[in-house]
Amino acid sequence: MVSVKFDFLGQPRLRINQVFLDAPEAVIASLGHYLKTRSRVAWKQVGNFVASRDPKTRPVQPVIVQTKGRVFDLAMIRDRINRLYFNGSLDCRIGWAKVGQHRRNARSRTIRYGTYNKALNLIRINPILDDSRVPAIFMDYIVFHELLHAAVPSERGRGRWRHHHGSYRIQERRFPDHALMQKIAADLVMILVTPRAR
Ligand SMILES: [Zn+2]
Repeated sequence: MVSVKFDFLGQPRLRINQVFLDAPEAVIASLGHYLKTRSRVAWKQVGNFVASRDPKTRPVQPVIVQTKGRVFDLAMIRDRINRLYFNGSLDCRIGWAKVGQHRRNARSRTIRYGTYNKALNLIRINPILDDSRVPAIFMDYIVFHELLHAAVPSERGRGRWRHHHGSYRIQERRFPDHALMQKIAADLVMILVTPRAR
């Protein structure tokens, strides 16, 4: 799955299995950290990921994503937003996430509406948004937000990844009525997530 050799100058030589294409950024970061510091803790984190993806127990499935929902067609939205804001320069794939993949954060009362996976160059949108109560302009905004992650790389600082750093935030203001989008994002949490019956 992964083999590392350090040459006589201490430079790593690395071979990794393609299952790492779908590895969470934290795992890639751990691998990078291990290569720099040979931290045993970081290596263990890589090992844990490998163990969870061992092809003997879990065959690697190609990532196939559905773009057409009941209400929204993500490929159409992506193409339009890509043309409007990025001169059609981005080539991200997009699809609906699996139900439950984006879990609600109960503490901060937020929903993760979308994610961008850099290794797969893939945007996944929370299927909770495939709902006629979601304004079309908000879908545009969510797709814009994720496309912008593809255009503006995350930065690593003080030991953690920062996705919404200063230059990202500046670029994000290109989308009109940013404040309204934040309000809709908050309102939709209450509308889309029905409280569990007691
Ligand atoms: Zn983001």
